[in-house]
Amino acid sequence: MTEFLDAKTIFVLTGMFTGLITVVFFSIHRGVYAVVNGVLSFAWAYGFFTLFALLLLMRGLLHPLITVVLADTALCLAVLMIADGVSRLKNQPVRRGFYRWYLSFCLVAFIYFTFLNPSFSARVMVTIICTVAIFCWVLIMISRQSMRSWRLGEWILSVSLMMSVIAAILRALTALVEPETTAAMSILSYQGAQAHYLTVNLLATVFIAFGLIVMTQDNLRRDLERLASYDALTGVLTRRVILDLLDKSIAKVSRTGRPLALMMIDLDHFKRVNDNYGHRVGDRVLSKIIDAVESALRKDTYIGRYGGEEFLIVMPDTSYEQLLEVSERIRQIAAKTIIHHQRSTIQCTISIGAVIIDASNVDSLSDPVTLADNALYQAKQQGRNQVVVAGLSPEAPGLKTEST
Ligand code: GH3
Ligand code: MG
Ligand code: MG
Repeated sequence: MTEFLDAKTIFVLTGMFTGLITVVFFSIHRGVYAVVNGVLSFAWAYGFFTLFALLLLMRGLLHPLITVVLADTALCLAVLMIADGVSRLKNQPVRRGFYRWYLSFCLVAFIYFTFLNPSFSARVMVTIICTVAIFCWVLIMISRQSMRSWRLGEWILSVSLMMSVIAAILRALTALVEPETTAAMSILSYQGAQAHYLTVNLLATVFIAFGLIVMTQDNLRRDLERLASYDALTGVLTRRVILDLLDKSIAKVSRTGRPLALMMIDLDHFKRVNDNYGHRVGDRVLSKIIDAVESALRKDTYIGRYGGEEFLIVMPDTSYEQLLEVSERIRQIAAKTIIHHQRSTIQCTISIGAVIIDASNVDSLSDPVTLADNALYQAKQQGRNQVVVAGLSPEAPGLKTEST
């Protein structure tokens, strides 16, 4: 192979790249660590790679305990931290005990092959065993996720990990057959298999970082989409999404003429729950009642948090009779939901204001949410724990009332 870079240059480049990548991961972590797991581990991984490169460059200047044992251990830890980060990113946690065993194995092996039975090839073999084992484990973690859902990050990472594993295996094979010549005995020698291995590793380190960054960004985007679309407390859709779906459903009524039901739900005297038991318990009551309501809804129904303890339910293809039946059912389910707190039980009813949007009114209705809200207000006025459907009923102009 033509020598276009010497080993020292390769390590200076590796140190610079990995140092920069460490900074990138730390800054991503500082910005998003609450959302995406694993970024801090990637920062540590590249920090260890940088340490490895720097310590190698100091060979001969400092004690071998630092420039050999510590350097090689840093390399093995870098590889481990990549696996740690991916396991966190993919929510496949690792038992911490394994890390202790791994670190002990590396330290013992490197001390043994540096001071007691010095062998460069043996140390290369130890790093190769660690790299191949850990990278294969990362590949398994990624492949647990169906390949169809792989995005660019997974592809770049898998290809670069495979590149690194193949290079490591080839290096191991040559280490077995290559005699320990003086030239091949140092990591700073840039000859034969070692030369190829160093170049491939430099490239793999950069590509792996690229894959990890893209994967982190993909996960971040997915998490942000989820955060923006689902309410953190109750898990139902957020206000923006439910209002958007309502608009789309109304547009569909215009096109197809099939009726749509809209309900607005508000918990009765919920302030009292907060006042009597505290906000945390209030949160639990709110989320349990909404869970119960959600479980009683059809699959094609959307439910979203409109604000505070008010929720909107959008039910496509729903007649007036079906609306009465469903709204009455969820009213009863909510009323029967019991929340245990210490020795007491908490129950909280709901009031429902509803409106039907169909071919007859879809063009004249200006604001269905306000109509549902007015019907809800009526339900509260009439004593709560009941359903009021806005409609054109002769006995209650503007409102059709269904009390219990
Ligand atoms: P009403 O029957 O008239 O609806 O009486 P209410 O006490 O429920 O009155 P209102 O709907 O105006 O009050 C809503 C209360 O719900 C006030 C607010 O502190 C509480 N609340 C809103 N969102 C949350 C929440 O996410 N968690 C908790 N714990 N309380 C909330
Ligand atoms: Mg209320
Ligand atoms: Mg309210």
